[in-house]
Amino acid sequence: MIRPSDRVMEIEESPTLAVTARAKEMRARGLDVIGLAAGEPDFDTPENIKKAAQRAIEEGHTKYTAVGGIAELKAAIIGKFKGDNSLTYAPDEILVSSGGKHSFYNLCQAFLNPGDEVIVSAPYWVSYPPMVRLAGGVPVIVPTDESTGFKMTAGAMAERITEKTRAVIINSPSNPTGALYTPGELRAVADAAVKKGLLVISDEIYEKLVYDDGNFVSVASLSGEIKERTIVLNGVSKAYSMTGWRIGYGAGPAELIKAMTKVQSQSTSNPASVSQWAAVEALNGPQGSVGAMRDEFEKRRSVMVKRLNAMEGVSCVMPEGAFYAFPEFGGAIGKKTIDGKAIDGSVALASYLLDEAEVAVVPGIGFGNDSHLRLSYACSVDNIEEGLKRIAEALGRLK
Ligand code: GLU
Repeated sequence: MIRPSDRVMEIEESPTLAVTARAKEMRARGLDVIGLAAGEPDFDTPENIKKAAQRAIEEGHTKYTAVGGIAELKAAIIGKFKGDNSLTYAPDEILVSSGGKHSFYNLCQAFLNPGDEVIVSAPYWVSYPPMVRLAGGVPVIVPTDESTGFKMTAGAMAERITEKTRAVIINSPSNPTGALYTPGELRAVADAAVKKGLLVISDEIYEKLVYDDGNFVSVASLSGEIKERTIVLNGVSKAYSMTGWRIGYGAGPAELIKAMTKVQSQSTSNPASVSQWAAVEALNGPQGSVGAMRDEFEKRRSVMVKRLNAMEGVSCVMPEGAFYAFPEFGGAIGKKTIDGKAIDGSVALASYLLDEAEVAVVPGIGFGNDSHLRLSYACSVDNIEEGLKRIAEALGRLK
């Protein structure tokens, strides 16, 4: 028997990817599974971006690049920060990696020592705590609930700060709740963090997906002092429907970017060369598709949340951004299936819905909340309506 390392034994595989893979496998077996699990837009990557990638192949951009990304992409990222966020970065303050997830992984490896604590508000994206742990760090969870719109207050954060705390993660708009911090809320958390000498890790991957005339503000743009202690993580996956291309980036203090680049140079090397050229076009080319996809997500969000709230025993706050709903299923948890199986938490509930209703959703436990499920509305309205109809029927069969 070959035993994996202790640190790998301590983590679970990513539940978002696991459920998505299981739904795919059931579909391949001919089952009519509705997928509300995948955290990726269902739109095709825009044509101009695909063309840029084809051009890159034809022009021979198929070799190693600089570890931290080609100069053209760094320039496009710098232009994006200037134009969208009024933030000024130099090339040595930017690192391009193989997806936003990889940027976060590099950061943990480059920044954390064993025992260092990182403040993570729950509900959190499933991969933050495991990536902190893989680097020897300790995720310190700050629970939030509907009463604060699932947002961590500066006071709740301050209570968890110890002499071992090194960083706090902010993810606005949030995966899985869709919560969007106001500039005032961001400033309160960031000021408190900076005062204690913490690093602010701002995951801004859902920046472009904000609804109801909401306004995205990067925490790094709030003051020079905050910017100096903030690393912004972003990428092209969600805004440009480019999840498979794997291009994310980090922007922050040069010494930290240098350390992250060192980790990348000794692990993956550069992100895929062709994908980098596609990302240059995504950031520099026409932006019309971004707004069009956003508008479509906004319509789908309304359909999903209205239907969820119409179900007995289910309640869902209106997400302000991203493309997920994170409803509470208090009325279903504690019940039993007709054949007597207990629905004792979100894993049992999600399995029941996949087996009985053939609808794939992600159990809330992976996000830190066991009475919730995460449903993605990055799929057609027809799928949302059919999926929720099946969920309502299946919940109605619980006793
Ligand atoms: N961020 C997406 C999600 O939460 C992508 C999948 C993943 O890497 O977790 O579903």
